[in-house]
Amino acid sequence: MRLEARFVTSAPALAGCPRWNTPEIAFTGRSNAGKSSLINALVGIKGMARTSKTPGRTRLLNFFALGDQLALVDLPGYGYARMPEAEAKKVAAMTWEYLNRRTNLIALVMVIDARRGPEREEFALADAMRSAGRKLLVAATKSDKLKRSERAAALARLAELSSEAILCSALDHGGLDDIRRRLLEWSREKIPHSRATAVTKQS
Ligand code: GDP
Repeated sequence: MRLEARFVTSAPALAGCPRWNTPEIAFTGRSNAGKSSLINALVGIKGMARTSKTPGRTRLLNFFALGDQLALVDLPGYGYARMPEAEAKKVAAMTWEYLNRRTNLIALVMVIDARRGPEREEFALADAMRSAGRKLLVAATKSDKLKRSERAAALARLAELSSEAILCSALDHGGLDDIRRRLLEWSREKIPHSRATAVTKQS
């Protein structure tokens, strides 16, 4: 299964997000968790390799369209110690605003290194998604680093966050088709009318 994405735009705030009715699935993750590698492995991005790591774009909301049925949104990574605190706060506030108020957002993919358990930020994000009625998928990446015997324990650690967790790897491509299938299933669910209307008003 292959998905082709087209880079659309980068937005510094909710106000700069595309004015469309396309459902969006956002990707979030701690810096270095493997988010860019996973997005790049999941979708072929036309004419651009590792687009989401382009300098300057790592602090923005980056939009990629998969046809006109679905868009992926690469959110800034969190927990990056070297970013000045004031800057990190600004980026976090902007990301939360997108997650809480963006009417197009139907689901969040939380990228977590499969060798780690969920931490404070991940629990907070999962709670926010639940109260906003959005779907949540945990992509437990770098599964190639796990021994066979460690896989079940890795999934059990993440089950606290979401009933949907998939072990995956950008390296050996394990789990990628399962994730693609899930994203496509969600994209076929229509945005509720009230939400779609609000998109036009808000943008
Ligand atoms: P991001 O900061 O979350 O976007 O993380 P990157 O995608 O840049 O990955 C961080 C590091 O982890 C890089 O050195 C990648 O090569 C490595 N990495 C990413 N995905 C995988 C994976 O599935 N398996 C392994 N073994 N390494 C990975």
